Amino acid sequence: RNTVNILGIPIDNVSMDEALNVVKGFLSEDRVHTVYTPNSEIMMAAQRDPELKKILCEADLLVPDGAGVVLASKINGCPLKERVAGFDLTNMLFSDEAAKAVNFFFLGGKPGVAEEAYKNLLDRKININVVGIRNGYFTKDEEEEIIRQINDSNTDVLLVALGAPKQEKWIHANKEKLKVKVCIGVGGTFDVLAG
Ligand code: UDP
Repeated sequence: RNTVNILGIPIDNVSMDEALNVVKGFLSEDRVHTVYTPNSEIMMAAQRDPELKKILCEADLLVPDGAGVVLASKINGCPLKERVAGFDLTNMLFSDEAAKAVNFFFLGGKPGVAEEAYKNLLDRKININVVGIRNGYFTKDEEEEIIRQINDSNTDVLLVALGAPKQEKWIHANKEKLKVKVCIGVGGTFDVLAG
């Protein structure tokens, strides 16, 4: 991996196309991969939160979702190629030829939001396979059942939209239990797609 160290966190120095190819590569490997897209706010939060910092450092792919992170890399003298926003990366994956063979699971957002996001994608002829949807307002007691639903649905890519850093922590805590190939923390993506 070609990474650039920013505030002690190794950010992958990839273009959007390269990031997409890395994610597609993860789909052919039989283990859980984690993808996070920190912006400067999360990079700063990680300085005060060692647990979050460790989680980011252990990611399989970490892309800079924000002009601030790219700017910091330039100031450091090791410039990152470009901003790779989680929203854009997710949409590139949806539209990619490879998505035809991918099962997505949407976890997060207020009740009804991810359903609306999926409907809007289908209306725009982005015919992805979404094999399950759950809103992001659940209790600890419900988690086991949610993980069972994800694992029973043959999910390849789990999109987790619980806001940062909640989604990163949730993915990290449940990584070993999840039978998926890729988990991506996608922040407010469903809200934007729902319109
Ligand atoms: N969210 C959720 N469960 C929670 C908290 C937040 O599903 O317990 C969702 C929220 O509905 C929104 C998304 O997380 O769709 C992103 O929230 P926010 O805009 O606060 O996060 P950011 O985009 O800044 O990471």
